[in-house]
Amino acid sequence: MNEFLEFKVDLDTFIDELNKKLTHNTESLEKLLTLQEKNYANFVKPIGMMDEYLEQFFTPLSHLNAVNNTKETQEVYAQSLPIITEYSTRISQDINIYKAYKEIYKNEKESLNYEQNRVLELNIQHFELSGAHLDEKTKERLQEINIRKSELSNNFSQNLLDATNEYEYIIENEKDVEGLPASDIEGAKFADEGLTKYKFTLQMPSYIAYMTYGKNATIREALYKAYVTRSPQNAAIIDELLALKNEMSRLLGFESYSAYSLASKMAPNEQSVLNFLNELIHNSKAQAHEELKEVQALSKTDLKSFDSAYYSELLKKEKYAIDEEEYRPYFEQQSVVDGMFEFLHKLFGIRFEKTDEKLWDTKALSYNLYLNERLVSRLYTDLEARKGKRGGAWMHNWQAHTLDENAKEQLASAFIVCNFPASTPKNPSLLRHDDVVTLFHEMGHAIHHMLSSVNENEVSGVNGVEWDAVEFPSQFLENFAYEPKVLKLFAMHHKTGEIIPDTMIEKLVKSKNFLSASGMLRQLEFSLFDFKLHTKVYKADEVQELLNSIREETALIQTPAYNKFQNGFAHIFAGGYAAGYYSYKWAEVLSADLFFSVVDEGIFDSKSAQKYLDIILKCGGAKSMQELFYELQGREPDSNSLLRLNGII
Ligand SMILES: [Zn+2]
Repeated sequence: MNEFLEFKVDLDTFIDELNKKLTHNTESLEKLLTLQEKNYANFVKPIGMMDEYLEQFFTPLSHLNAVNNTKETQEVYAQSLPIITEYSTRISQDINIYKAYKEIYKNEKESLNYEQNRVLELNIQHFELSGAHLDEKTKERLQEINIRKSELSNNFSQNLLDATNEYEYIIENEKDVEGLPASDIEGAKFADEGLTKYKFTLQMPSYIAYMTYGKNATIREALYKAYVTRSPQNAAIIDELLALKNEMSRLLGFESYSAYSLASKMAPNEQSVLNFLNELIHNSKAQAHEELKEVQALSKTDLKSFDSAYYSELLKKEKYAIDEEEYRPYFEQQSVVDGMFEFLHKLFGIRFEKTDEKLWDTKALSYNLYLNERLVSRLYTDLEARKGKRGGAWMHNWQAHTLDENAKEQLASAFIVCNFPASTPKNPSLLRHDDVVTLFHEMGHAIHHMLSSVNENEVSGVNGVEWDAVEFPSQFLENFAYEPKVLKLFAMHHKTGEIIPDTMIEKLVKSKNFLSASGMLRQLEFSLFDFKLHTKVYKADEVQELLNSIREETALIQTPAYNKFQNGFAHIFAGGYAAGYYSYKWAEVLSADLFFSVVDEGIFDSKSAQKYLDIILKCGGAKSMQELFYELQGREPDSNSLLRLNGII
């Protein structure tokens, strides 16, 4: 029997196949809608599986386009996107499907299991959050708002981009670039009428390089001022966006945009988010002050905003820096992967076994995953950098564990993609410790998907998990990459076989926690500003006043009045984080809380780890994470665990 799909993409026929499938789906849906007696089994289930099969068909193309990008994959991918979008928009606005779901939920709620009820609840919510159920006039207005919102967001990022690109600072005195890394100096260098000059810009690598290593405070101030005063015209965009988001939320039946945002998240209400952030601010402050003192001690003058990165770097170099090259020999790629598998075996009793499947690249591998010696899923790994592969690291789910429309079990599968140094027959791939952390992180996502025992694909694995909870399993697992007991399973010098010494592990932890309280306060400042900003309608100067009032609690160094940080806060005004920036810290608390339960129980014999497998991993998105976490720990998450994880006492 073939449990898993074969990985293949036929670029020549893909678009034809896609169109055929969508036409078939559309016809099937029409037929389903004519059913006299609609119920979960004959209506909801087939629609859910239709989505699953479409995803299964589409994922290999998007995967291939990301890992083996060619002109051909780009073309087919770009061609398919509008086709898919048109189809899914049409389905998501089909009021008849919504009405049928509502009816089925009303009739069968008592007899369906919680997984099935959750499928219905999330689908109904999805329709209602887009306003598909409202009257025509309201729907029209909602659509106008949506169009205008995306224009404004687009203008916001364009203005920011233009301002970033416009500016440059030319340094003529070589002394002013002393202390910068050679590669940054090389990047900045240019010849002008026989003279060597250096150009710095507001683009990330350039700006950060000078702010971190540039000795000349006057130049740092000029760069800083240019950076924090970018795109002043975005202030008007912010006002309009806030007003539109509020109007939209009200049309959809919410008091405010923050309430609308929370409707689909794990956090139960606005007050819980505010309390959560304020408590962390309160508890991080004292240590952040201590950290500032340590940084301040290196400077003769009072620290200014444009000094902190520079003096922090001096302090880091002096006390906390680690030399990656010293660590690499301990992290040979294959032994890290094998060690991580062994760790997962000890933690959860799961076992990975390599298959001999041929995949899209010789470096790509697949593994069967066994739980209690029963095959449960397949993992695909593609860990090395190469030409034509998108940068970064990610997990992507492919098949979901489910029962199909004939009640036949389908197993789950997922991809982990990284960009580690490539190995050659002569040279092994040696990782930085950061890479090890990344691998654990993505593995945390992958097992969340692969160990699901849910029978409804729409809420199985990572499907249906709330946005502010998705990073819980990944962050939980990455924390173990700093644990001596875990590192010693695999961190052996690839030449001498020597196990990584404790002193080196301690240095890793210290380096991770360097200025952690100050970093925490900064993130909390962003989170609180974002969240409060969406609780009512702020206009014009009120936006700045709100930010100032928050800074009274969070900023240790007086922020100059010219600083208009908000005009560059693209995460919330041009990205998807509005009234959701708090999610980063929210998920971190869940992960830290459970992490310490496991560590305090000795890691490998931990009952909490077993419970985590049974309650969180197996259950996927079939219950709210709020509910699952309570089942797991018997209490609310404890934010002190996050402080402990960051070395904040
Ligand atoms: Zn992640």
